[in-house]
Amino acid sequence: MSWYYYSDAKEAKARIKKEIAKRQKKGEPFRVVEAPSGNTKLVKTFWGKAWNDNLESYHDYEYRLPRGRSYLRQGNVYDLLIEPGRVTSTVAGSELYEVRVTIKPLKEDDWNQIKEQCSGQVASMLDLLAGKLGAGVLKILCDPESGLFPKPKEIRFSCTCPDHADMCKHVAATLYGVGVKLDTQPDLFFVLRSVDPTDLLSSSTLEISASQDPSLAEEDLSALFGIEIEAEPVVIESIPEKARKTKPKVGRTKRSTSDK
Ligand SMILES: [Zn+2]
Repeated sequence: MSWYYYSDAKEAKARIKKEIAKRQKKGEPFRVVEAPSGNTKLVKTFWGKAWNDNLESYHDYEYRLPRGRSYLRQGNVYDLLIEPGRVTSTVAGSELYEVRVTIKPLKEDDWNQIKEQCSGQVASMLDLLAGKLGAGVLKILCDPESGLFPKPKEIRFSCTCPDHADMCKHVAATLYGVGVKLDTQPDLFFVLRSVDPTDLLSSSTLEISASQDPSLAEEDLSALFGIEIEAEPVVIESIPEKARKTKPKVGRTKRSTSDK
């Protein structure tokens, strides 16, 4: 039940605007995650779609996902950061809430198996990041059991909002925000899973792969995704262990839905 009437909502909006301005003054960027509004497809590329499809396959999450999607489309998700094993963001609701999602790193054995199965079949980084791969490789990478995507039991999340649901709309908005980010920066998927995508390239293709020539990669990726690729430094510090141990800055940690 919502006890926020229109005037309360308006008041909250003004309060949040003020709070954002205050925190920006202190040096927090508050960069909004730009997501298409209305009925335009949320994501367009292979990895963005694959991420969202995987998200929507978690039946435990299905009730919260639509609200999260509209939250994201309305521009309420800020400073979404994807690091090894961790996603953080600030989401505007009635207040500003801090969201943290931790994802267990891909098991070494599983990664080795994926590498072995894909051996010699991934021609270049560009093909991999664009999802231009054979059906066999795609099946291996997207397999719900042994593929690259995290399973619900490997995901934990927390939010500083007072919502007692297992997954609040702020977490759902953040998870969809990851899909939107992957649309323009698909390499972040591999950062999140704490694996090196060049491991999937065979040694002969590695020599000519775009990863060896970052300028070429950026140029081609810009053309490929129709966007300006910012030369943003990729966070490679290995933090999943730490991330799992670190408690959220504020608020309580909620159980993952898979704990049920
Ligand atoms: Zn929340």
